[in-house]
Amino acid sequence: MIIACPHCDGKLHKSVLSSFSSWTIKYWTDGESNIGFSNVFTPLVRCPLCQSLFWKSDATELGYKPSEPSPMSKISIWYAKITGDKEGKLAEQDAWNELPMGLKNAPRYIPSELEDWLEVLQDTSNLTPEREATARRIVWRNSNDHNRLRSDGQPWSVEPALCFGEATANRLALLELLENGNPSSPTEKAELLRQLGKFNEAISLVESASHEVQRTPLAVKIVQLAKSGDAIVSEV
Ligand SMILES: [Zn+2]
Repeated sequence: MIIACPHCDGKLHKSVLSSFSSWTIKYWTDGESNIGFSNVFTPLVRCPLCQSLFWKSDATELGYKPSEPSPMSKISIWYAKITGDKEGKLAEQDAWNELPMGLKNAPRYIPSELEDWLEVLQDTSNLTPEREATARRIVWRNSNDHNRLRSDGQPWSVEPALCFGEATANRLALLELLENGNPSSPTEKAELLRQLGKFNEAISLVESASHEVQRTPLAVKIVQLAKSGDAIVSEV
């Protein structure tokens, strides 16, 4: 898929999910998983042409770029011409040659990093509450990465992404957004409360949810950790 950068109108290649192989998928109490593909799923990207950050949903989709046909030898061009191009190979070459250069050479956008999300959050007056919640949710998960282990037992990041004060302020701001009507789940709010050390509030919130929610492995884990006074992210 080709999209146009909303800042410079440059043509960019949008990553799409082409295959999905199965492996052991892990989930953590803050909603993070090891599924990956953040380059495909990230809602915020950077344009490599003008270096601006933009939300993918703000970019115009221009359609799919045809894949470049393999070059034809002189003999196969001659053969296609005299046989009336039955396989459409000449037409395919012509269609490719007629594409504008900006489209043919469209670079891939750059997936966002933690710094980009922090940059977006520097001025929240331009953000809808939903976008602010998205940004804070991603920053929140990043701030837990030093407490998340890979399958080889090593932490996702050696150092905390944010200092304690910044991580706490972000959790509080996210909780406030979710309490003011942004789409969320009782378990997500309970997990934020637990990570803020508000264990009794976290337990009450889960206990006031439906029985169906209370029985999920995530809800059971959050209550179990809250009852033992544990505020650290945990694998479910
Ligand atoms: Zn641009």
